[in-house]
Amino acid sequence: MDCLFCRIIAKELPSTAVYENESLFAFLDIHPVNKGHTLVVPKKHTADFLTSDDALLSQLMPSVKSIAGAVMKGVGADACNLSTNNGKAAGQVIFHLHWHIVPRFSDDGLKLWHGKEYKEGEMEEVAGNIRKHL
Ligand code: ZN
Repeated sequence: MDCLFCRIIAKELPSTAVYENESLFAFLDIHPVNKGHTLVVPKKHTADFLTSDDALLSQLMPSVKSIAGAVMKGVGADACNLSTNNGKAAGQVIFHLHWHIVPRFSDDGLKLWHGKEYKEGEMEEVAGNIRKHL
C-alpha cells in the first residue's frame, strides 16, 4: 500500500485522531494552517472529489459537517474554511480524497486568493461553456 492516507487509516503510520466511524477517519494536519486544522478522509480509497462515487459522498458529507462544527467549537474559531483540492494544479498532493477543515479567527491574518477580472462579454461565454457540461 503506497497511499499515505490509506496507511494512516490502517494505523501503519501515526496520526492524531479526531474522529472515526465505519466510513471515514479524521485527524489533525501535521502542518496546520491554524491549530485544529483537520483532515477528513474516506476509509475507502478514492483519488479525489470529482472521481468519487456519489453514494460515498452522500454518506460522508453529514459527518464532515459535524466534524467541522466540532473543530470550530474545539478551538474557539469564528469561522472555518472547508475545502478539497481536486488535482495537482489545484494543489492536491495526496491523491486520496480529503477535506481540509481550517478553523479561522477574525484576527488570524490569513487572506483568500485575489479575484481576477473578466473582459467585456467573457463572463457569459465562460458560463455558457460550463452550462454545456451540466
Ligand atoms: Zn488511499
